[in-house]
Amino acid sequence: MQTSLVNSAPAEAALSAVHPRIQIRDVSLRYFTHEGETQALDRISLEVAAGEFVSLIGQSGCGKSTLLSIIAGILEPSSGSVLVDGKPVTGPSQRIGYMLQQDYLYEWRTILDNAVLGAQIQRRDMKQARERAADLLHKCGMGDFLHHYPRQLSGGMRQRVALARTLVTEPDVVLLDEPFSALDSQTRLAIADEVVDVLRSEGKSVVLVTHDIGEAIAMADRVVVLSRRPGRIKSQHLMRFPSHGVGHPSPFEVRTLPEFNSFFSTLWDELDVHVEG
Ligand code: ADP
Ligand code: MG
Repeated sequence: MQTSLVNSAPAEAALSAVHPRIQIRDVSLRYFTHEGETQALDRISLEVAAGEFVSLIGQSGCGKSTLLSIIAGILEPSSGSVLVDGKPVTGPSQRIGYMLQQDYLYEWRTILDNAVLGAQIQRRDMKQARERAADLLHKCGMGDFLHHYPRQLSGGMRQRVALARTLVTEPDVVLLDEPFSALDSQTRLAIADEVVDVLRSEGKSVVLVTHDIGEAIAMADRVVVLSRRPGRIKSQHLMRFPSHGVGHPSPFEVRTLPEFNSFFSTLWDELDVHVEG
């Protein structure tokens, strides 16, 4: 037992050196309904490295949520495959955390009890889970609210709790589907810094879906643009900020850098937004 624990760390390290954390290989998806067939995704191939933060942007309906659900193992692709650390994703897994726009907190549970929900479902050691949840809630600025109830919190605070809940089960991959879109713009700015801080310090591989170009640039190492439906990879951009010097600028700092504006106009052109009506 002791030996396997000691050996597992180098084995894990070797694994992530060989395989990207997430490999999406030639994934297509068609939805079939009684109205007919919708091709949502067309031959998507994408890799995400261990510890990398990728933002995924594209017009509404281009298949972003569909792609996250496939990575999460909730939807099966019509063709192609997804691998995490070289192993095919065949269903939901503890290695993958998925956070949605709506926070799905239970109103009758305290913040701490909400945060440990996933751990409880996975029948984990609850003492450890509560310690980890309390620690994460502190890191997300929610340390004073462990014994409050969701209705006592603002939208931004509720999303912080949802993030802590996603991280309590220690997934290697975190999928975020427009997690801030219901929040006002000031709260979004404040929460982005904290969220990036927590996710980077935990070394997670992150895929963030957002329709906010500024948010995509400010939070990520790389921005991936999907075409209109059926979603194909249109382009990818590495977020490099030479004017910042060493280290990674915080999302707030990114918005003050000259590179931010040029990334913004490039991505705006690529999204090809038309106002309808
Ligand atoms: P996005 O998240 O980029 O807005 P989605 O992945 O939700 O896009 O949807 C992609 C396309 O697939 C849309 O045209 C949507 O209407 C369609 N779609 C999504 N879910 C279903 C479903 N369960 N059944 C049929 N069509 C769906
Ligand atoms: Mg969506």
